[in-house]
Amino acid sequence: MLPFCRQLPIVCFLLAVTSLSAGAQPRGAWSAQWEPVKLVNGSPVLFRVTTPKQVIALTGTFLGQDLSFRSSQTCHCWYAFAGVSLATKPGRYTLRVEGTGQGEKKATMSYAVAVAAAHYPFSTLKVAPGFVEPPKEELARIEEDQAIKKRAFATTLPEPEWAGRFQAPAEAEVSGVFGSARVFNGVKKSQHTGLDFRVTTGTPVTASNSGKIILARGFYFEGNCVMIDHGQGLITLYLHLSEIKVKEGDAVEKGQVLGLSGGTGRATAPHLHFAVRWRGEYLDPRTLLELHPPEN
Ligand SMILES: [Zn+2]
Repeated sequence: MLPFCRQLPIVCFLLAVTSLSAGAQPRGAWSAQWEPVKLVNGSPVLFRVTTPKQVIALTGTFLGQDLSFRSSQTCHCWYAFAGVSLATKPGRYTLRVEGTGQGEKKATMSYAVAVAAAHYPFSTLKVAPGFVEPPKEELARIEEDQAIKKRAFATTLPEPEWAGRFQAPAEAEVSGVFGSARVFNGVKKSQHTGLDFRVTTGTPVTASNSGKIILARGFYFEGNCVMIDHGQGLITLYLHLSEIKVKEGDAVEKGQVLGLSGGTGRATAPHLHFAVRWRGEYLDPRTLLELHPPEN
């Protein structure tokens, strides 16, 4: 740091930033890291940005989404959750962050973030024919289910309600991974958008992190399901439950029992389907569980 910078920290902060040309490597007090280090399509991301002390607020954009960073005393950094949709093509994408200093002074930094192609497996499933092509008499109910979910997904709490690591919703081994192409009765339907846990009926299912219950009811495909809004468009979903133990509107803590596992809805056997949705896109829950957000 230049000697006069001690007296004029804000000026120096701006000089440091404006001296960077496009594509330059970050230097000085700015740096950005992300988890996982190797990003693929379908991956949740945790960005951590270190800034000069003068920055009092930090926002950003990545893949067309606005990010709002939280400051942490533990890492002395700013962190934000983001996601790479399944449809994202491999390539380099820009994380742009904007720091605000005293007196509304702004400074912008850009970082190139590589996204590689994920290699998701195929899986073949046999289910009752009615679930591949639902019977006509169920179509009205399925439409109604979709309208209810659409309404629930349309709003989100403005601030993050979660803190620290996300935990597995059941103590059980994984029986189905995210992203696998699903072939139902010989017909390719879609990609599996959750993580399946092998649990018997009646196993407690717990909240992966804190938030607000936005849905707790039965649907044709999902069976009895619970969905938690963790704020800013991040939702976790718990499907095929035999019993629901929370109500819509409830605030829940990390680890709180939401219900008991089961095999309701489109399920070949009892299991827990756990899914992560961020601003309309399903992301890999296993990666979410492996992230290390600061505890505060
Ligand atoms: Zn599943």
